[in-house]
Amino acid sequence: MGRGRLHETMEAVPTSANSMLGVYVSVPFCRAKCSFCNFASGVGNGAAMERYIEQLCAEIDAASVTAERIGATLPREVESVYLGGGTPSLLEPAQLRRVFAALGRNFDIRRDAEITLEAAPGQIADPVLVEAQRLGVNRISLGVQSFVDRESASVGRLHTERECVAEIVRLRAAGVDEVGADLIAGLPYQTVESWEHSLEVATGVGLTHLSVYMLEIDEDSRLGQEVLAGGNRFHAHGVPAEDIAADLYEQACERLPQSGFAQYEISNFAASQHRSRHNMKYWQRVPYVGFGLDAHSMLPAPNGAVRFANPDELALYAGAASEREITSVGEREALEESLFLGLRMNDGVSAKALHECFPRELVASCEEAARELIAEGLMSNDDGRWRLTLHGRLVSNDVFGRLLETAAA
Ligand code: SF4
Repeated sequence: MGRGRLHETMEAVPTSANSMLGVYVSVPFCRAKCSFCNFASGVGNGAAMERYIEQLCAEIDAASVTAERIGATLPREVESVYLGGGTPSLLEPAQLRRVFAALGRNFDIRRDAEITLEAAPGQIADPVLVEAQRLGVNRISLGVQSFVDRESASVGRLHTERECVAEIVRLRAAGVDEVGADLIAGLPYQTVESWEHSLEVATGVGLTHLSVYMLEIDEDSRLGQEVLAGGNRFHAHGVPAEDIAADLYEQACERLPQSGFAQYEISNFAASQHRSRHNMKYWQRVPYVGFGLDAHSMLPAPNGAVRFANPDELALYAGAASEREITSVGEREALEESLFLGLRMNDGVSAKALHECFPRELVASCEEAARELIAEGLMSNDDGRWRLTLHGRLVSNDVFGRLLETAAA
């Protein structure tokens, strides 16, 4: 059975202590800060990175003790590792080795595990690539965002279309099995034509996975703040209107499957058998543990599951349990998550599975809202599975809000 098939049959239902774990490792350093970025990341120097790696490895070594203190079960067998950030490809080979050594001391990473390294085009030095592959990295996710130079430059990306294409060709030639890229709909100066160019290059250059996000306009990024303030800095005046960004997203949803990238989640598209096994864990409520700045975890616990998150400020991050935000996930919260996360996937949510996993009265409370949403064309119900329609995906937060409101009532 191929990787993708295995996950197609799984449901977003209560997490289990028998599940294999996903491990996320946050490396929050970048060479430059992109104007749209609202992640906990920043430009770091060598000393700061070295100090951080030390703390990170100490946190990994303390994982069992932390889980016990929180009252959670920490599965030992790992089937996916994801080094994200930030730009973890900026780590030195010796730092990568230390992180993997810490993971190896505390977990059993399966031989067929999916191991992903996030990278910026042009920012994976040869020795880093060699070491990463030696350590088992078999998937690289590139933050491309746009294959149009004017758009990339406007948000502070340090690469051109030519460099991105060369990077993808280089990684495939080096034997990296899976190479994916992120794209953003709604960047300054983006048009239907320029977006079509990005999609065309993305689908013809040997990538196996594409993530398409809509530009987030909020107070957490410099570009977002400027757009909200109606200013002109950071090329804010070039940001397309919200309805145009929505059209660009729809364009991707139509265009990518025609080129062999099937949509399997609101923002994710994959060539056959190349879904992200790690990200599927988030949507299917399979246990995962995160280490590092702003890393989130969800582990099985006697009453269901427990979620916890590390601080999102470097000054506060020291692997100290006292700083963690801990949330217990009971039956009602688990149902909400199963809906919220399951509906993000094109496979949707099986009403039958919900009935099998949750008390009848809890599920019944959502069914009425689901019926209304189906009547309004925002959701569909085929073969007993609830799914978002294309229109529903564009207003997914409203749909989730209405469903969850009834679940919480
Ligand atoms: S490279 Fe990624 S994480 Fe770093 S600033 Fe840019 S968008 Fe943010």
